[in-house]
Amino acid sequence: MTSTAEAGAGAAASVAATVAALRQTYDTGRTKPLAWRLAQLKALRRLLTENGAAIEDALWSDLHKAPAETHFMETGFTVAEIDAISAKLRRWLRPRPVPTPPALLPARSRVVLEPLGVVAVIAPWNYPVQLLLGPAAGALAAGNAVVLKPSELAPATSAVLAELVPRYLDRDAVAVVEGGVPETTALLGQRLDHIFYTGNGTVGKIVMEAAAKHLTPVTLELGGKSPTYVDDTVDLDAAASRIAWGRFVNAGQTCVAPDYVLATAAVQAELGPAVARWIKRYFGADPQASPDYGRIVNDRHFQRLRGLLGAGTTVAGGQADAAERYLAPTVLADVPREAPVMQEEIFGPILPFVTVDGLDDAIRFINTHDKPLALYVFTEDARTKRRFLTETSSGAVGFGIPLAHLSVHSLPFGGVGASGMGAYHGHRSVTTFSHEKAVISKPLKPDTMRLVAPPYTPARQKLIRRWLGRIS
Ligand code: NAD
Repeated sequence: MTSTAEAGAGAAASVAATVAALRQTYDTGRTKPLAWRLAQLKALRRLLTENGAAIEDALWSDLHKAPAETHFMETGFTVAEIDAISAKLRRWLRPRPVPTPPALLPARSRVVLEPLGVVAVIAPWNYPVQLLLGPAAGALAAGNAVVLKPSELAPATSAVLAELVPRYLDRDAVAVVEGGVPETTALLGQRLDHIFYTGNGTVGKIVMEAAAKHLTPVTLELGGKSPTYVDDTVDLDAAASRIAWGRFVNAGQTCVAPDYVLATAAVQAELGPAVARWIKRYFGADPQASPDYGRIVNDRHFQRLRGLLGAGTTVAGGQADAAERYLAPTVLADVPREAPVMQEEIFGPILPFVTVDGLDDAIRFINTHDKPLALYVFTEDARTKRRFLTETSSGAVGFGIPLAHLSVHSLPFGGVGASGMGAYHGHRSVTTFSHEKAVISKPLKPDTMRLVAPPYTPARQKLIRRWLGRIS
């Protein structure tokens, strides 16, 4: 065997043993009681609150992520998600009564949530805590055994989570599999009851193909180019401040970041310099020296991003330092639609502006591309808002604010089309990781069913037609 094949075989054996052990635990029924689920959520919360400093250090090492930002968008965010779920879990798990058609009465119908079994959560590197432990909270709340696969591209965070998870959570029901492609491939080769994957669409297809072998359901949280439309009815300086924050937080490595701006030439002329001013306010004249500005995750992504510079007119940024994987927050105006930066999700600190004639042109442009994960619209015009809502499709829409929808725990978070399938957060996380079992209970007496059973005498036929609705 080659060394790669050996690594693959080794990973497969160890991952298979991990999943088998989780299944054994699941089969005992241990993860099902509400008390176990709430205890796991509490332990997960403690993991985050008692190890804030270690987690902040890991994210600084992986992404130069500012500690305040780690708190805001990773640990604090996940704690808020855990709290939102814990507060209502008991209520959400109650069987939900639903009406029974009169023809079937007397009877009682209800929807009962049951856990799926052993589920996998496969996370990316850009928000490596939130995107691993957020879905994990939903999976545990739903009563599953869980295998967690952190991203190998955020190695310090992966290591700290692999160390902490067994210290806080039920070791027999929650496991961490660290590693890269061989380990993830080995995991995908197992029979799992749900795969929750966050990452790029190319791997999303690999996940779905592997899941098909066992008919395993998937949630795919993917990415893509999230458009932002700005018109002249808004305060452009205020819009610029929000767009600059949303684009350049985590050095642009955010799945729901505004990927590009669609605006008329007149709006661009004001908005471009305004975004440049806000970059300066957020990160100073030299963002490389700012403790609040991130770095590109690895050399491959750094080189890829550097190759996207140079289109249109550079309004801000453009500087790069390979030694630090630093890429300045960059704004490019009047970028041609066919430029490389407009062909793929940027996933870095570059904000291209594309000139449109107006609203119709912007909507047409969006609709000729993949359905985005998020769409942002800055306008005061109600008709314009309505048109975007009804004439475009996206995972989410933010009027006047990028990114914020994902902090609303009662909104489902997910994509549509190429930006993903399925959703999570809050209540939706619990249903995503549950089977909604349909239950009907009908007493044996009175035996109303005999009235509609053969022989179909004329009287019974009449009754059936009256009870079940006339179709002829
Ligand atoms: P990544 O490279 O860390 O990959 C994610 C996971 O997939 C990792 O655990 C990795 O081990 C595994 N993986 C990678 N290659 C594989 C292969 N060939 N076979 C099997 N498994 C493999 O992360 P990424 O994909 O670079 O993440 C960035 C992408 O994720 C962007 O497109 C972004 O928009 C998207 N994203 C989406 C969301 C969301 O919530 N919808 C959030 C963050 C990121």
